[in-house]
Amino acid sequence: MHHATTTPVPTLALNDGRTIPQLGFGVFQIDPQDTAHAVSAALEVGYRHIDTAQMYGNEREVGEAVRASGLDRADVFITSKLHNRCHRPADARRAFAATLDALGSEYVDLFLIHWPLPTLYDGDFVSTWNTLQEFQADGRAQSIGVSNFQVDHLQRLAAECDLTPAVNQIELHPYLLNHDVDAYGQAHGIRTQAWSPIAQGHVLGDPVITAIADRLGRSPAQVVLRWHIQHGNIVFPKSTTPARIIENHDIFDFELEPHDVNAIDGLDRGEAGRTGPHPATMAVVPG
Ligand code: NDP
Repeated sequence: MHHATTTPVPTLALNDGRTIPQLGFGVFQIDPQDTAHAVSAALEVGYRHIDTAQMYGNEREVGEAVRASGLDRADVFITSKLHNRCHRPADARRAFAATLDALGSEYVDLFLIHWPLPTLYDGDFVSTWNTLQEFQADGRAQSIGVSNFQVDHLQRLAAECDLTPAVNQIELHPYLLNHDVDAYGQAHGIRTQAWSPIAQGHVLGDPVITAIADRLGRSPAQVVLRWHIQHGNIVFPKSTTPARIIENHDIFDFELEPHDVNAIDGLDRGEAGRTGPHPATMAVVPG
């Protein structure tokens, strides 16, 4: 049985000169009442990067856990994301101020447009992106980026805006490599953040993955997370199970051979592997 180690999490450089820990902890679908506990457990294990969003309803509890940890604020990387209801510039400004208030922090490390919502707001995500640039200019968002942007959305930002997003956070796991979006980002200095990195568990029983895991004496989740790391993706698996929180962090003292990376790449199902909404049609504005 492999024993947990404390190998440090690598950091990656962003196109704005900042850095981001390549592994973080995601808090989507964690109830607000359970969030502080889960985030505390993650910080205890050594995670220094938390991925939340206005729509998750748990920013306040993330902030509480970070303060309760006794860590310096500067030592924890916090990401949040704009509410789908607040894309108009005036709404985005109010919503962003509410994020800082909920987190109890003067800044976020990274703020993202959560979804492009190209069928809403008259198709205008450009003014939203320009508004996020204000938050970076005044230092309240150290880095800014997007989430769920397709290639055509990124091309539109490139054509109409001054600033390139630091990251694009997209659904990406062995059943959905999301190759075109990832490749566009790599070619243009946009880091890929892989959401649902283990497809909410759906890839963990795959025989290709379990065979590699058995051979290496690792868990399927560790193999899949390691595959992301070796591809250069930024990941933040979610778990409220203490043993899994530890397991998912313990992926920096082994390496997959190229043939294993290739075998996992071969599991791509293209669009059939997508588990979440398609960004081109996603139009949910909660509340
Ligand atoms: P994940 O791929 O991280 O999977 C989470 C699920 O897998 C949970 O059910 C968890 O169960 C289980 N799990 C976690 N670790 C293990 C393990 N080691 N072994 C077996 N099962 C495990 O899914 P998420 O959708 O939560 O994605 C991660 C993060 O990505 C989110 O929390 C959020 O931060 C971000 N995200 C962003 C989106 C966007 O639109 N930008 C959309 C979706 C996610 P349990 O908790 O019971 O242990």
